[in-house]
Amino acid sequence: MPVPLLDLKRQNLALEADLKAAFERVLRSGYYILGPEHAAFEQECAAFLGVPHVLGISSGTDALLLALMALNLGPGDEVLVPNFTFFATAGCVARVGATPVFVDVCPACFNLDVADAAKKATPRTKAIIPVHLYGQAADMDGVLALARAHNFAVIEDAAQSFGAQYQGRQTGTLGICGAFSFYPSKNLGALGDAGLLCTNDADFAERATVLRMHGMKPKYHHPFIGGNFRLDALQAALLRAKLPHYGDYTRFRQANAAWYTERLTHVPGIMVARPEDCHLHPAHTTTPPASPAPKITLPTANPGNEHIWNQYTLRVHGPGRRDALIAHLQERKIGYDIYYPVPLDRQPCFKNVGRGGENCVRSHLLAGEVLSIPIFPELTLAEREEVAAAIESFLQRG
Ligand SMILES: *Cc1c(COP(=O)(O)O)cnc(C)c1O
Repeated sequence: MPVPLLDLKRQNLALEADLKAAFERVLRSGYYILGPEHAAFEQECAAFLGVPHVLGISSGTDALLLALMALNLGPGDEVLVPNFTFFATAGCVARVGATPVFVDVCPACFNLDVADAAKKATPRTKAIIPVHLYGQAADMDGVLALARAHNFAVIEDAAQSFGAQYQGRQTGTLGICGAFSFYPSKNLGALGDAGLLCTNDADFAERATVLRMHGMKPKYHHPFIGGNFRLDALQAALLRAKLPHYGDYTRFRQANAAWYTERLTHVPGIMVARPEDCHLHPAHTTTPPASPAPKITLPTANPGNEHIWNQYTLRVHGPGRRDALIAHLQERKIGYDIYYPVPLDRQPCFKNVGRGGENCVRSHLLAGEVLSIPIFPELTLAEREEVAAAIESFLQRG
């Protein structure tokens, strides 16, 4: 039985009537950019996140770019970013003319290693962008303490973590601002591009609001050079129809992750990432597990984090082994993807732009090992079993 990595139609067609009604409301309202649907969406997200200021934005990328612009970052400034993330995290830094400084990541939770960030902070460091990768919070206590010590800003890249919590607090609300993405494959997916920027800081919100609309205030007067980072009313209305179901989407993803972990843990050759492998754990160790070494490591949620499982990402250890598993999945028409195959410091475009990548051995290793399997909320039991059985038979084949 083929299993897709992601099937957006299952989620969206289940809400067909509501989505069509949302379209009708926008059509008849005559407001197609910002407007009442957009304002209502901002309010609902502010309530969901528990923050006073929320701006609907054209995409997650634009939310990050706008955050950097609102902080007035540019040439000569350095911004610490994880070396293992989606391109946009660092792309936006380079687009404002600042220098991305690549920080290694944790092999267990995949998030930025604060100790490495501390080594790379300089007087030119103006910000850090922790990414809550795959839907799990980064070490925000560590990040916030480092930022306070050096007096630089924390911009959370929460593109994959809408609703994920760090010690009971919403990711994206802990730094000066948080950038979210509603790209269709994110946990809350629009029917096109959409994003959000949130903040607790009224001055920051005011600057970002002006910059979202060409730096214009009042009308046709431009004290700043901004851009067009507005969210369509239609996307806001469609997202409003999906938001009441978001808790269910998250619970189904969490149940799917728990199911995979339970089903696969006892398969010979498979191990769940040990808590002590994570740099966040008080008893953190780099000592490998007792032999035999695992062939595949399953992801885990750190205590204190509410993981929302945007991805369920395996590590497939050993040269050529990930490719072999991919071939095995392809034979069975099982969906997968690699997030991300090339660490940022090895992207051609950052060759002469960024720095700090040389010592990032763990991100270099992960890029060759990670493999994400289907985890979307509507995945059936039979489909999960198909995926798990394929992984099991791969290991049995040797
Ligand atoms: C998706 C994503 C973005 C960009 O969001 P878009 O809405 O696609 O522009 C940025 N950072 C991370 C980590 C992402 O996963």
